[in-house]
Amino acid sequence: MSIAAPTAQSANGEIADRGSVTLTGLTKSFGEFTAVRDLDLRVEPGEFVSMLGPSGSGKTTVLRIIAGFEEATSGTVRLSGKDVTRTPPHSRDVNTVFQDYALFPHMSIADNVGYGLRVQGAGKAERAQQVGDSLRRVRLDHVADRLPHQLSGGQRQRIALARALIMRPQVLLLDEPLGALDKQLREQMQIELKQIQREVGITFIFVTHDQEEALTLSDRVAVFNNGRIEQVGSAREVYESPQTEFVARFLGLSNLIAADLAHELTGDRHTMSIRPERVRLQSDTDTLADGEIGLVGTISEVVYTGPATRFLITTDAGVDLLAEQPNARDLAGAGLRRGDRVRAAWSPADAARLP
Ligand code: ADP
Ligand code: MG
Repeated sequence: MSIAAPTAQSANGEIADRGSVTLTGLTKSFGEFTAVRDLDLRVEPGEFVSMLGPSGSGKTTVLRIIAGFEEATSGTVRLSGKDVTRTPPHSRDVNTVFQDYALFPHMSIADNVGYGLRVQGAGKAERAQQVGDSLRRVRLDHVADRLPHQLSGGQRQRIALARALIMRPQVLLLDEPLGALDKQLREQMQIELKQIQREVGITFIFVTHDQEEALTLSDRVAVFNNGRIEQVGSAREVYESPQTEFVARFLGLSNLIAADLAHELTGDRHTMSIRPERVRLQSDTDTLADGEIGLVGTISEVVYTGPATRFLITTDAGVDLLAEQPNARDLAGAGLRRGDRVRAAWSPADAARLP
């Protein structure tokens, strides 16, 4: 996991740990059912961390515990180094953005965004100034006087973000905030979200079940399964070096070679995971490059996906392998057809060793 950040006093007396989130031994049971099990996670100040996992794996529960909407059965939550496990939600310096934006329907966009400041007793002039800044940050200052229903889904989501950011929380929690948007808008919003996070510099904890979204946005990804974190790491680490079979399968496509076959090929009795784009196809009569591992078989399926072509190879060893080759010119895979005999080869460095 991560290295603890320094907690030295800075010039203004604030601890330098401001904006960190530390979960220790977090467990949450609902009656007999345990939704979160003995979970540890440390999020650094200003970091963008995604909690990625299938539906029901405990992501929202962890987020709600951080926000204080849900009480942990055991374990502790620290915000900026301070134990807030028993602190009520409104006294925690966090804000949450949900998938259903929950804007007040009869209030103008400006009033929606300024609502939190008004409750805090901020004056009209200050509010107007901050609402303007906040709307400009999400590039929507031109809709200040409209009502929520007069905006598109993507615009409403940006307003929900502006409304949360105007309170200047140390930590922003986002629960599948882009889930209701169509694919194109979601991808556009992902880029904007990343830019906004960089600009405001606060800690983002982002829940999603979409692996591509998690990989695209995050400094680090925490992969959830059954109330536990299976692996935490950079996008590259969790994708290229999965530590468990679950992570290998959940993040993209993966070829899994069972321990017995792996033993025959390499002498190491451990399941191997190889990403399809690391599998090279060559003629079955060509010899293997030095140090490479290979299996001979027949191409049983060819799928053109635009930027790449996917080949399914039924190997003589009995295992099916996927190979993916970019559709660049002058490529070895070009011209390969269903029924062709090939050798699927990969370098041991491209095979992750699973427990
Ligand atoms: P995710 O956000 O990863 O989809 P959740 O954290 O919402 O998962 O839920 C994890 C598990 O806990 C699910 O099986 C869910 O049904 C259960 N759960 C969540 N909240 C409650 C609750 N208030 N009462 C009972 N079970 C709950
Ligand atoms: Mg959820």
